[in-house]
Amino acid sequence: MIVRRVRGGLRTCARWALDFVLPPRCAGCGTIVADVHSFCPECWKHIEFLGQAGCSVCGVPLQATDSETCAVCLAKPPRIARTRSAVAYDELSRSLAIRLKYGRKVAIARTMARYMAPLIGDSGDDPLLVPVPLHWTRLWRRGFNQSVLVARELSRRLSFRTDVLVLRRLKRTPPLKGMSPLQRRKAVAGAFRVVDKAAVAGKTIILIDDVLTTGSTAEACARTLKRAGAARVELITWARVVRPAQLMR
Ligand SMILES: [Zn+2]
Ligand SMILES: [Zn+2]
Repeated sequence: MIVRRVRGGLRTCARWALDFVLPPRCAGCGTIVADVHSFCPECWKHIEFLGQAGCSVCGVPLQATDSETCAVCLAKPPRIARTRSAVAYDELSRSLAIRLKYGRKVAIARTMARYMAPLIGDSGDDPLLVPVPLHWTRLWRRGFNQSVLVARELSRRLSFRTDVLVLRRLKRTPPLKGMSPLQRRKAVAGAFRVVDKAAVAGKTIILIDDVLTTGSTAEACARTLKRAGAARVELITWARVVRPAQLMR
């Protein structure tokens, strides 16, 4: 315990020292910037921040309407009561997600959390942050779950609790891109399980993920959490595919 604490302390000191010696760099292209965990003006121009715009429930961009909720959500309220993503999925936001996924770059998780945190807002009292879990085989190969890194950074910023164990992935799911909605639903059916129902019962759960593509995975998580008694499920992601054509690639 003490050894671990000392090691943790040393690591923090090392990070401070590095931050002091190395100037902050743009999370997009690596040029030196004034502010940590930010973007240079050139990258900034190209990022499409989604913020609080779009349907108040699912977050899809709304066009030429004064309604706050899209027709799909009005017709049938989805299981996920509120979905928000920091940015649109494009080359730049994808590059951050990939560098986080394969490089375990905590600085990238921090940058993402910086832009995701304002989207969480006041979601009930004491919400629980739950990163979308990986299957253990994938976790074993990669060594970490990128969504856990982001959830931990969000937790640090907002002082909300994170539970990385409560939701478990039982099934390895194939890539869902290019599948029909029915095929996707089948692929993720029964993929998740809540380990400790008491930990989620009556709670607001905020699912955390890196990229929102088809939404089927998060939907399956929400179904499982609701069945276990969660009062409300929201989803906050770094990036979101806003152009349906990208789903077919
Ligand atoms: Zn840049
Ligand atoms: Zn909607």
